[in-house]
Amino acid sequence: MAIADWRQQLKRGELSARELTDHHLDRIDVVDPCIHAYLEVTAKRARADADRIDQARAAGEDLPPLAGVPLAIKDNLCTQGIRTTCSSRMLEDFVPPYESTVTERLWKAGAVLLGKTNLDEFAMGSSTETSAFGATTNPWNVDRVPGGSSGGSAAAVAAGECVAALGSDTGGSIRQPASFCGVVGLKPTYGRVSRWGLVAFASSLDQVGPLTTNVADAAELLQVIAGPDPRDSTCLSADVPDYISSLSTPVAGLRIGLIRECFEQEGLDLEVKAAVLEAANQLEKLGAELVDVSCPRFNDGIATYYVIAPSEASANLARYDGVKYGHRADTAESLAAMTSLSRAQGFGSEVQRRILIGTYALSAGYVDAYYKKAQQVRTLIRRDFDKAFQSVDVLLTPTSPTTAFAAGTHADDPLAMYLADLLTIPANLAGLPAISVPCGFTDAGLPIGLQLITGVLEEAKLLQVAYQYEQMVNVMDSKPEGSFIL
Ligand code: GLN
Repeated sequence: MAIADWRQQLKRGELSARELTDHHLDRIDVVDPCIHAYLEVTAKRARADADRIDQARAAGEDLPPLAGVPLAIKDNLCTQGIRTTCSSRMLEDFVPPYESTVTERLWKAGAVLLGKTNLDEFAMGSSTETSAFGATTNPWNVDRVPGGSSGGSAAAVAAGECVAALGSDTGGSIRQPASFCGVVGLKPTYGRVSRWGLVAFASSLDQVGPLTTNVADAAELLQVIAGPDPRDSTCLSADVPDYISSLSTPVAGLRIGLIRECFEQEGLDLEVKAAVLEAANQLEKLGAELVDVSCPRFNDGIATYYVIAPSEASANLARYDGVKYGHRADTAESLAAMTSLSRAQGFGSEVQRRILIGTYALSAGYVDAYYKKAQQVRTLIRRDFDKAFQSVDVLLTPTSPTTAFAAGTHADDPLAMYLADLLTIPANLAGLPAISVPCGFTDAGLPIGLQLITGVLEEAKLLQVAYQYEQMVNVMDSKPEGSFIL
């Protein structure tokens, strides 16, 4: 059920907020032992919040836009009084004394918190397998990964364990799991959404965004979470347009650029390629014009990202020293020994790898050769996009080169795992908004995602194109038979 439909049902008294919340809590009880999307379910609070909405309705009060909408929140967003672990032993017992801006806005808008979802440790990964608290499975095929790092949020949405969810996207962590789980995932423009209360991974890349079953719901959530925040100085001051009303604008006349380099990828799965090109044809049928464009530096994104993101991570994660908060090792030898042991015990191997790479890339002898060079290439990548947007409105690529891979596939090969974000990373490096929308299924019944990218702060256009495509194609009508989800 889309959020707009739910709003009508609530208003007319056809379904209460308590019933909707109970439905999702029951669903979690049934499927989550197998999916493991949630790290913590806040059932008591959810029921109390839902009851409050029902009372407000009964009293004839005006209801806020997301009244009674049950949501799941990635566990790297601080929730006051509720554990926020980042799926790490380091923060296993961390209970934030404050609420993140995005979640605060959601609760003010009447949304109900169902619980906190699993992720790759500190959002580093593409499969939700690096969580210290066990992996999440893909609802379409539980032997497959849900993608990552927002795999818990994506799986929860796909399996009907919530109406919608929040994730965070540093190099693809909203879009790639959305693509693997057959849901919609939106990464907003860098600075469109506040990061106050988001546990920092790579500060020049991180953005919070929605994961939903449909494009209109993504617009609904963005409408609430977007906008300036005095507590986040990287948050843009630009006004928030009406995302919902622009959805219905036809795409006729828009120019859609197919990035040549993305379709020439060696590792691009042929079924993915065919489905994405078919989606482009559908947009052409709606009156859009397809244009071939080149972004020559697109494929350098991954190497650039894996210098910049670990460098920033090594700086951000230096705060976990066993002194202020987080895990502290039990040793009295020396302060240095305590810090070092706390980190060795608190951080998993992928997080340690990133810290080591970042510290190396930033060290005096190498900073010019690695970090500075990566920043220069980043500028070139951004210029490629600037140039492309001089002749097109929207860019189109697959979201991921493959569909969901089997659990354990890349366990011993971090470089192969990093390639999962080949097509999503460039938008982060350039600060651009991008969305993943389901565009079909493989013969084996796994979802395929289509990625659309627009210029800075053009979320309205991005959502419009995604919505028009979704309305025309109705991909979920062709979902594989026997699938137990949705
Ligand atoms: N998979 C990428 C990484 O491991 C991106 C993660 C993210 O977007 N948080 O860094």
